[in-house]
Amino acid sequence: MSCRSVLLMALSLLAVESVGVARAELQVSSDFPGGSAVVLAIDQTSATVEFTPSVQQDRGWPCWWFLRLDGLSVGQTVTLKVSASQQPYRASSVLAAAWMQPDQAVVSDAESDRSSWRQTATCQRANDVATYRFAATGSTMWAAWGVPFLPTDAERLLDDIAGRVPGAERFVLARTRGGRPVPGIRIGGGTEQQPARFGVWVQARQHAWEAGGSWVGRGFIEWVASDDPYAVELRRIATIHYIPIMDIDSVAIGAGGKDAVPRDHNRDWSDEPVHPEVAAAQAKIQALDQAGRFDVFLDLHNPGPSERRPYFFGPINLSELPARQQQNHARWQAIAHAEISGPLPLLDSYRFATYVKTQEERNRMSANWVRDHTASHVLATTLETAWNTPVSQPDGYQSVGRQLARTALRYLSGPTRE
Ligand SMILES: [Zn+2]
Repeated sequence: MSCRSVLLMALSLLAVESVGVARAELQVSSDFPGGSAVVLAIDQTSATVEFTPSVQQDRGWPCWWFLRLDGLSVGQTVTLKVSASQQPYRASSVLAAAWMQPDQAVVSDAESDRSSWRQTATCQRANDVATYRFAATGSTMWAAWGVPFLPTDAERLLDDIAGRVPGAERFVLARTRGGRPVPGIRIGGGTEQQPARFGVWVQARQHAWEAGGSWVGRGFIEWVASDDPYAVELRRIATIHYIPIMDIDSVAIGAGGKDAVPRDHNRDWSDEPVHPEVAAAQAKIQALDQAGRFDVFLDLHNPGPSERRPYFFGPINLSELPARQQQNHARWQAIAHAEISGPLPLLDSYRFATYVKTQEERNRMSANWVRDHTASHVLATTLETAWNTPVSQPDGYQSVGRQLARTALRYLSGPTRE
């Protein structure tokens, strides 16, 4: 047998063998809106994927991850091993692994079109690597740090509300530095004969990775838009502005946003904001205030991985504020404590952002800026809703949002101004 025939025979044997063991190859991708993952290794035999969230230089903390797996067999156990990238996200800053390793991740399959997600079992941690396991329920699965809330989700939510609540008006707050529209909605406002006296501004995702903030916001605005008699009353007495995603550029590209360069959205509330959507929010809020129709500003966030209950960040100089505002904060806390009672019960008292060291930086935080630039009765605060609990899922988050909206109604129904 010639050399050539041996080679041909070997090649044909190889071909037969590869047909014999043919099965779809596991493939991993993250090149879709909100996607984030850098694959380090794939073990085809055990369907194990090792990855880190992608580090996008100067685009904030690399904690959020979201990937797609193709070529799975139904019933197959999939293993995800998540580690922290050692690559700095800004200058020499590297993010600690805990931020990118929720106790439980979430997965969805193609059948549900990502409309339903389920939690994995609690991960196992060893040497800064978190290992998640789940059974594939489709040949394509998505896995994520938390249930995503993307720009398309915001559009759908606002379209739905605008379509069913008379007088609700969609608007574009601004176009971002990346050219994307930042959608919002105005709802309530009373009637022409009896315009609403009060004003409420609610926004989420100044930090893009904090997807839970958008889910809290969705619970808030869907309750406000509902037929519940108390929601109807809130729409009668107040005009509500709601922005589901402030840093829509970072959400779209799967970046974390927090601590971005030159500064993130919640450090941009100065006289010269870098982000057009921050400037536009400032202008709208000041116009409402100058018209004598502004009362409550709520900025929705998610806190650190060890927090298990939601809490508000109160004004660090609370005891130096005008008496009316101190009374308002005391009433707000009491009402919020009664309303936000579970499944994610509010902590007993305010916390204070003592980790912000300079007055100059403090002044650039949104709630502080609003407090410093509006009437003395205005209540401006930040809600941090715990993300690393078994109920920090769309249902649990949306409960907090509904409870927050009821808090706003009860608060505005009592004495808030001189
Ligand atoms: Zn935040």
